[in-house]
Amino acid sequence: MPKSPSRRFSETLTIALEEFAKYGYDSRSRLDYWMSRLREAAMASLKSPEQIDEDVRVALKQVSRRVIRKSPRYHRGLGRYAIQRVGNRLAPELERRIMASVDLIRLHRQEAIEKTLQRFSGLATSIPPGTRTLDKREARTQISKSLRQMNFEARRVVIDQGHKLINAVNSVIAEDNGAIAAVWHSHWRQPGYDYRPDHKERDEQLYAVRGNWAITDGLMKPGHYLDEITQPGQEVFCRCYVSYLYHLRDLPDDRLTKKGRQSLNPPEA
Ligand SMILES: [Zn+2]
Repeated sequence: MPKSPSRRFSETLTIALEEFAKYGYDSRSRLDYWMSRLREAAMASLKSPEQIDEDVRVALKQVSRRVIRKSPRYHRGLGRYAIQRVGNRLAPELERRIMASVDLIRLHRQEAIEKTLQRFSGLATSIPPGTRTLDKREARTQISKSLRQMNFEARRVVIDQGHKLINAVNSVIAEDNGAIAAVWHSHWRQPGYDYRPDHKERDEQLYAVRGNWAITDGLMKPGHYLDEITQPGQEVFCRCYVSYLYHLRDLPDDRLTKKGRQSLNPPEA
């Protein structure tokens, strides 16, 4: 069976450390030689840029299908058809999120490799010749830390971009169907979720969509507008979302004007 790429990195590192433990930092060329071998091994141990692209594409396409399936939760009183017909307008949003994720993950990948080599070179150049005190195991753990974290970092990027995508998709649907307001939802009650205090404040608050028909027709009191605050998912790792309202009857009573109330309960003739 061929060696796993991360096994190959770890073995290369072990040999390099043994050599430096034996000879210490005695020449620049020794360091250069091992740096280039470790770079190769580190690159091989991580997903290739092409693989990153493919994985991100699959993951985010799944998110976009799920968001359409779960759309009743985000769009109160809107029929399936109204949601599905925006289908092809979502492609650019999806593509934008894929590009952003791929770029970020590639950047993380590059950083992980550089950090790994930096740690190795920092350690290797500080070893005096003939040292017996080098804890190779500890050194290996320290040096390969960034490579080990890489999958986790990539997952975090996809999750964050996935939330941005969910919110972008919902905002296209809302715009297309003339939403009048949005109710903010924060996950602040969820144990372990590092919520932003100002987003917790927004929980369950209702924000008007600027220029909507209900305001234009004098049926709705605007109050705060949705475009006056950061959008859900806009800030890093924000997992908030909004659910959109489309009908006057779904607004709380205090957001209706007198005319709005009358239009809901027309006086009997
Ligand atoms: Zn948030």
